[in-house]
Amino acid sequence: MDDIPASTILPASIPRVELASLPTPLEFLPRLTAHLGGPEIYMKRDDISPLALGGNKTRKLEFLLGEALAQHADTVITVGSYQSNHCRQTAAAAARLGLRCVLVLGGEGRRSRSGNYLLDVLLGAEIIDSGEEDRDTVYRRVIAQERDSGRCVYPIPYGGASPVGEIGFVHAMAELAHQMHEQDIHADAILLPTASGGTQAGLLVGSKFLNLETKIIGVSIEKERQKMIAGMLQLAHDTADLLGLDLDIHESDFLVHDEYKGKGYGIIQELELECLQLLARKEGILVDPVYTGRAFAGMVDLIRRGFFQAGEKLIFWHTGGLPALFVYEDALLPALVSGSSRLQMKSNS
Ligand SMILES: *Cc1c(COP(=O)(O)O)cnc(C)c1O
Repeated sequence: MDDIPASTILPASIPRVELASLPTPLEFLPRLTAHLGGPEIYMKRDDISPLALGGNKTRKLEFLLGEALAQHADTVITVGSYQSNHCRQTAAAAARLGLRCVLVLGGEGRRSRSGNYLLDVLLGAEIIDSGEEDRDTVYRRVIAQERDSGRCVYPIPYGGASPVGEIGFVHAMAELAHQMHEQDIHADAILLPTASGGTQAGLLVGSKFLNLETKIIGVSIEKERQKMIAGMLQLAHDTADLLGLDLDIHESDFLVHDEYKGKGYGIIQELELECLQLLARKEGILVDPVYTGRAFAGMVDLIRRGFFQAGEKLIFWHTGGLPALFVYEDALLPALVSGSSRLQMKSNS
């Protein structure tokens, strides 16, 4: 594999603000690898990027807020669940750049005011609770109201999933390709959690551009496979168009496992509880119950089912999400203390 500098993908005309202190580390996980006795497992550590407890949205925000500043926006508005990592990272990035941040929160997931919600408030975001109303309806209304009142608004869609945001992950794929080259790791597959699909779509565009053979496998957090793929195909085409790249991108490029979504967004399952502990106790690395824990558990299960062979190399893309861990104390702690991997299902909603 030839080494191609990331800058070759990125037209200089696309504005960007530096928020993520890249590259994030690519690490080997020896004790986990030995324990599972299958493929070699590596981890891409976007969870430790430096902005207010890190995560994958920071890469998207480098380009989204680059565009916001270029448009002289004074207010950023975005939308998500109470425990949205995307909203927390947007609040932090806005604070750092001196922009006002309005968050429309509601919908699925736990409504705890701990975790990401607490951090949103700490970071100075103005929070609008969508209550019983449809969250996206409220989001659109807030954008219109802010514009009517004379604000220069930069709206950011759910999960930061827009072609501009995806450039962050096109670039991330080039970053990883460079690290694989440097560290002589020729990974067979990358596994990651996928929700809005932006991260996976961006990585796919990057890997097409670079002609990489590494498979990119998303573990769906809540949506059906076919729905995920349709959304990502569109995003990938739009992102390639924005970058002026002429790439052959097909439905079959998107590999998605949707069998780990269980009872839905943020409803923790026993496999996740087991794998959260496994990673913590073998490697001292934390994953959250909503995104990375679910995807990591999916990867462990696929390994156990013989989906990957000994000698293959896998990279788990750690997308962050740790503040949400604390919101699940009631479901996690009794099982952790008693040493069983049984959840307290009653409190688990
Ligand atoms: C948002 C998020 C994801 C999913 O990324 P998408 O680009 O929306 O698919 C995965 N993990 C964490 C921790 C997230 O916050």
